[in-house]
Amino acid sequence: MANDDRAMTNFPIPQTDPRAGYIEQQAEIDAAIARVLASGQYILGGEAASFETAFAAWLGVDHAVGVGSGTDAIELALRACGIGQGTNTRDLVFTVSHTAVATVAAIERAGAIPVLVDIEPGGFTMDPAALDAALRRPPPGRPAAILPVHLYGEPAELAPLLRLAGRHGLRVIEDCAQSHGALYRGAPTGSFGDIACFSFYPTKNLGALGDAGMVATNDPTLATALREIREYGWRDRYISARVGINTRLDPIQAAILGTKLPRLDADNARREAIAARYDAGLAGLPLRLPPRRAESRHVYHQYVIRTASRDALREHLHLARIGTGIHYPAPVHLQPAYEGRLGQFPAGLPETTRAAREILSLPIYPQLDAAAVDRVVAETRGYFE
Ligand SMILES: *Cc1c(COP(=O)(O)O)cnc(C)c1O
Repeated sequence: MANDDRAMTNFPIPQTDPRAGYIEQQAEIDAAIARVLASGQYILGGEAASFETAFAAWLGVDHAVGVGSGTDAIELALRACGIGQGTNTRDLVFTVSHTAVATVAAIERAGAIPVLVDIEPGGFTMDPAALDAALRRPPPGRPAAILPVHLYGEPAELAPLLRLAGRHGLRVIEDCAQSHGALYRGAPTGSFGDIACFSFYPTKNLGALGDAGMVATNDPTLATALREIREYGWRDRYISARVGINTRLDPIQAAILGTKLPRLDADNARREAIAARYDAGLAGLPLRLPPRRAESRHVYHQYVIRTASRDALREHLHLARIGTGIHYPAPVHLQPAYEGRLGQFPAGLPETTRAAREILSLPIYPQLDAAAVDRVVAETRGYFE
């Protein structure tokens, strides 16, 4: 992340490099920005609308509503479903602790109660068995939604999760902040739930050059609610039909994203090629390579290995001036702001806690070349051999 400079551009091989994406498209992006500046339209307007249309078509959903960030996207999705609203609600939203803190922060901002369930043994996404157990014995409140996260670009095991949501009458909100273009059984993540939430944080697979986000849905009623809530609750200008906030997609970011969307599929293919090169180069070492489901397309927002000697390997790579990341070093339920006060999990979250100790994100971004991947492989092999 941005505040972890070991991951950023001060190493010859950084962990991520959003600037490389800008340089690759500099003329096109500069022209898009200039077009917005010259248009005189600095809030929403045609640029935001045309990116929303393009994004909805790309995802294959009817409605896409541009917002200020991925965090706001999640808050809006819950509010549009009426979850967490009203004075006496104890609406429960089931999600994971192994995620960006934004997932959980947004649930609380919407006024709902996060209930954190464990990830799959050896995997990184919500464990359907753990969700089932949590739904059988939920904490006090009304189970309202499940919010699976397609972490690192790998789709969660959606089929059983959707079955459980259906059986319990729960909304499904997908956190697609790391999974633009990922497929589950042939269909894109973000096309399964009631609402999908995307972030365009600069390092994401589809990244803006600032903050931006998107909510997508096939439900016209939810789409109307989302449009109203993102802009003070307005139905007609200056007249609030409901309580809203201000979180609109910036037209400069929309124009930039419009130039990048047509390249997303090719960029994801470059990430997959890098991942395949790591898979081959690191095979046979005493570490665990990223899991992947046969029926999914993993788009490798992160390439995350696991090893008990994570910290020493990380130090070794940093001495070789190779950037790495830890996504994330502490599960949300163990962070000071949350510890001890979120939904109960009598069995604890053993898989989550174990993963946080072992994970290491190697460099990956579309512009990372094969020679750099080979250096990372060689240094990693050197550490173990
Ligand atoms: C990035 C991210 C978010 C939040 O997005 P912002 O645009 O930074 O607000 C939410 N969930 C996950 C899983 C993320 O990776």
